[in-house]
Amino acid sequence: MQQDVVIVGGGVMGASAAWWLTRLAPGLRVTVIERDSSHARAATALSVASIRQQFTNPVNVQISRFGLEMIRDFPACTGGPDLCLRENGYLFLAGSVASAEVMREAAAMQRGLGAATELLAPEALAARFPWLALEDVMLGSFGAAGEGWFDNMGLLAGFRDGARAQGASWRHGAVVELLREGGPATGVRLADGATVEAGAVVLAAGTGVAALLQAVGEPWPVEVRKRTVFLIDAPEARHPEAPLLVDHTGFYLRPDGRHWIAATVPDHDPPADPGDFAPRLEEFEDLLWPRLWARAPGFAAAKVLRAWAGHYDFNTLDQNAILGPHPAVPGLHVMSGFSGHGLQQAPAMGRGLAELLLTGRFQTLDLSALGVTRILAGTPFPEHAVV
Ligand SMILES: Cc1cc2nc3c(=O)[nH]c(=O)nc-3n(C[C@H](O)[C@H](O)[C@H](O)COP(=O)(O)OP(=O)(O)OC[C@H]3O[C@@H](n4cnc5c(N)ncnc54)[C@H](O)[C@@H]3O)c2cc1C
Repeated sequence: MQQDVVIVGGGVMGASAAWWLTRLAPGLRVTVIERDSSHARAATALSVASIRQQFTNPVNVQISRFGLEMIRDFPACTGGPDLCLRENGYLFLAGSVASAEVMREAAAMQRGLGAATELLAPEALAARFPWLALEDVMLGSFGAAGEGWFDNMGLLAGFRDGARAQGASWRHGAVVELLREGGPATGVRLADGATVEAGAVVLAAGTGVAALLQAVGEPWPVEVRKRTVFLIDAPEARHPEAPLLVDHTGFYLRPDGRHWIAATVPDHDPPADPGDFAPRLEEFEDLLWPRLWARAPGFAAAKVLRAWAGHYDFNTLDQNAILGPHPAVPGLHVMSGFSGHGLQQAPAMGRGLAELLLTGRFQTLDLSALGVTRILAGTPFPEHAVV
């Protein structure tokens, strides 16, 4: 049956878009096509599921503030599950005068937009987080409210189940081709040869978007970047109220129940094979643990309980989301390039995309600077606080 909108990819972005479309336009015919309902390799499932307002680009602060509202109140907003948001905050550390200055400017901007960012000098940091070694730290930036972590799969399930209840349908299949009759997108073809025709096509396929856009012929600066996440037991480090620490030496750490989750950005970070989900186990001993132990002596005894690898859809132009119509193909829309901070953005991205499709423009939060035009022009709209 002809659809109004077909969405490729049933991760958090596709599910949020389907929820918002059917919420704002009851009766709209929306089909989501997902190739793997286990979500085993979806970034949504492999994420560390955290939300912050400490971004350098004001639009990302606004996007996360809207995400926070929904995540805090998800059952009332969607009928979905309680996402158990744990608001322990994020703590960014700066190790140089220059980065402390950037931190000050960002904090002022964030506070101006309603965030609860506090700047903490080393003495204040030591008083608040006595388990940290701070000799090399110039300044800390702490989100005292509205930042923390939550149930990632609950967010996906709430949007998906809510969208279905509102009339959207999910279909199993791998999309292999965009259908274009004389130019505009008119639907998609699946690997089994079936086609789904629609008035609009939304690519929300995570790292799969670039492959689907190849036929369009325009450059798409989004690469697969592998990130290995470690679940750690550190019996002498019990700080359940600890924030998510983003350390200037190149790692992040947060509590996860009785344990800890930590990851680092490898010094060498080339594009990864889309099928390569093998964790880089050596990163723990070579990079992560020495940095972690130097920052927090309580991690002297630390054992890796589990490790997994996930893929960022890394926007090499400006590490920012790409949302909206593709100027080269009428009827084609993209949700791509989230560069490791897309989970928290899903509520606002889905709403923005639905507004654009239904009314031709953003109605609530203006996300037009995140559009495809800047990508094709090679004009960055950067986010610098990429974790
Ligand atoms: C290790 C890690 C940690 C992260 N931590 C955070 C965090 O703390 N906070 C945060 O906000 N974000 C975080 N992120 C980023 C966040 O998880 C992603 O930005 C977000 O989940 C992207 O959602 P998506 O729906 O675009 O992609 P995905 O979740 O990858 O979903 C895309 C879906 O499309 C399907 N698909 C692909 N190609 C096709 C095709 N051709 N046909 C049909 N289906 C297709 C896939 O099977 C997949 O299910 C992290 C990511 C990783 C990898």
